[in-house]
Amino acid sequence: MKINKIKGIGPKKEKILNEMGISEDIDLLYYFPRKYLDKSKILQIDKIRGFEIGTIICTIINIKTKKSFNGKELLTINVESQGNIGEIIFFNASYLKDYLKFQKDYFFYGRVEKSGKYFKMVHPEFASTEKKDFLSVEPSYPLSFGISQKDIRKFVKSLLENEIKENLPLYFIEKNQLIERKYALKNIHFPENREIYKKAKKRLVYEEFFNYILGNRLIKLQTRKGISIKYTKEDIDEIFSLIPFQLTKGQLNAVDEISKDLKSDNKMNRLLQGDVGSGKTIVALIASFLAVKRGYQVAIMVPTEILSMQHYKTFYDILNNICRIEILNGSTKNKEDVYNKIKSGNIDIIIGTHALIQEKVSFKNLALIITDEQHRFGVDQRKKLTDKNRKANYLIMSATPIPRTMSLVLYSDLDITTIDDLPKGRQKVETAIFNENKADTLYKEIKKQLVKGNQGYIIFPLIENSEFFKDVKSIDESAKEIKEKMSEFKIATIHGNINSDEREKIVIDFKNKKYDILITTTVIEVGIDVENANFIIINNAERYGLSQLHQLRGRVGRGKEKAYCFLVTKGEYAENERLKILAETTDGFLISQKDLQIRGPGQVLGMKQHGNNNFLIADFFRHSDIMQLVIKDLDFLIERKETFDEFLQDRLITI
Ligand code: ADP
Ligand code: MG
Repeated sequence: MKINKIKGIGPKKEKILNEMGISEDIDLLYYFPRKYLDKSKILQIDKIRGFEIGTIICTIINIKTKKSFNGKELLTINVESQGNIGEIIFFNASYLKDYLKFQKDYFFYGRVEKSGKYFKMVHPEFASTEKKDFLSVEPSYPLSFGISQKDIRKFVKSLLENEIKENLPLYFIEKNQLIERKYALKNIHFPENREIYKKAKKRLVYEEFFNYILGNRLIKLQTRKGISIKYTKEDIDEIFSLIPFQLTKGQLNAVDEISKDLKSDNKMNRLLQGDVGSGKTIVALIASFLAVKRGYQVAIMVPTEILSMQHYKTFYDILNNICRIEILNGSTKNKEDVYNKIKSGNIDIIIGTHALIQEKVSFKNLALIITDEQHRFGVDQRKKLTDKNRKANYLIMSATPIPRTMSLVLYSDLDITTIDDLPKGRQKVETAIFNENKADTLYKEIKKQLVKGNQGYIIFPLIENSEFFKDVKSIDESAKEIKEKMSEFKIATIHGNINSDEREKIVIDFKNKKYDILITTTVIEVGIDVENANFIIINNAERYGLSQLHQLRGRVGRGKEKAYCFLVTKGEYAENERLKILAETTDGFLISQKDLQIRGPGQVLGMKQHGNNNFLIADFFRHSDIMQLVIKDLDFLIERKETFDEFLQDRLITI
């Protein structure tokens, strides 16, 4: 039902509510309070130390209005409560004095500040003590201008009068002792008491996980026909003979699972997750080779031009004699030519940025789509790419390894492969937190490394939109300072307004040791691979999430030399627990888990764009027990095909 059917919602309020994401009755019912005002708690003034939030009962002894020094109108009410004298203040609300009477008793709810026997409240809610229903627990909602708490409370109340059908299987409700849907909704908005409120919350968390995972599982269950890539044993032998190193166990397992998917008639939909440096690229390369060998095309989408160039080089080095490989990104010059070649099948593997999703790009026989560092792309971008051929197999790669239970929820529409080892000989990168003021010690430290012939990165914050010019200046300035300090070394700078040809040249020159230091922004975060680089300095480390810092750190420790990561931050952050986590562990799983805990999946996995991934009430960490219960229940249900079908049909009516 549209909300304009609700009494009190005219076109004006409807518009505001729509902007708040509320257009149906169901949206309102699931517009949960952000907090509750417990006005039923009556405070004894004598017992308050400092301040407390709650209701006090006062008698009004004086009311006065005056102008404050900055022109605001001040309504001051002198009150008395249990022998204590206090003051209640309202700004620009002198009209309230018509509602308040001398010598009468009132409830005031809010923050009561006390010093000695004197107390004070600013802008409390109030009502005459005759109005006993003031003493209730009230929901408090996030608001927009033009919609009040009272409005939302009223609308929700009216909806709760209607019938609200159950949407979970009764079997699970009983088994898990959940309360009924309508009762739960009633109590999440207007809790009768704490105990029922808790039950309401549990039930709604269960419901939210249930619907979310069910939705994804249904997508996965629709085994869609895909292109079967019928590679041979000889193909496998051939590609393995071309790879210059031995694959790790994790990589071999990944190749095994992915190649089985490729061969099957069903479309592959697989997430390949593995810590930074675990060697996902080579797995992607093997899959690409198998597709090309059987006459198909492959598209690989990466988030940055630098990464596209680097992948290109990796692919070119190994597959040049067998496959026709090209780059397509924003600065590709002969774009039309590339489009034509893709269309006519004269390119086998196209590697590019989101330039690949443009309409002009169409394929002759695309059979494998790969996105690298998937969290950098929005859902729309990925969809546009997969729409190039819906039958094509799809491989998604991510360097943010997340805990298994969590991936079972977030990626429940995908099969998951995890590379959980690193190539042999990888070093633990020694990580230290440096106070900004001690940068000089740090530069001494890195000089020692440079003298030995090692190279390193110095990272400054990414240049972004409005900050563009400001930061360009600052990175150039910082680079200048560093160059002065380290004049005996060769230093290059890359940032956003250097064009991609030049950037590519600098990266290649750096790789070829023409520079000792590369000063850059986080553009290098994803992917760059220079074995000889053994230190990285990350300035303003406090600005980044843990997973991102871990990725940056992953740029070093790839060669034989001991590697270092220096997190430079302001004094106040130097003691920061968050950064310490990074100094203490190199386990990507642990780091991402902490990061998710601190920042939430929206930030860490870039799921803001995901829409349906913003849970209303469920929380991965606090409700992980309920989450696991739901996963188990759904497995149980899906296994029983008949019951499942019945349930699905039924739901069509109840939802
Ligand atoms: P990521 O998983 O972070 O994308 P990459 O694919 O960039 O990692 O691999 C990191 C580096 O490790 C590359 O230089 C790659 O050539 C190298 N590498 C990958 N697999 C192995 C292996 N099994 N043995 C040795 N080096 C490897
Ligand atoms: Mg990678």
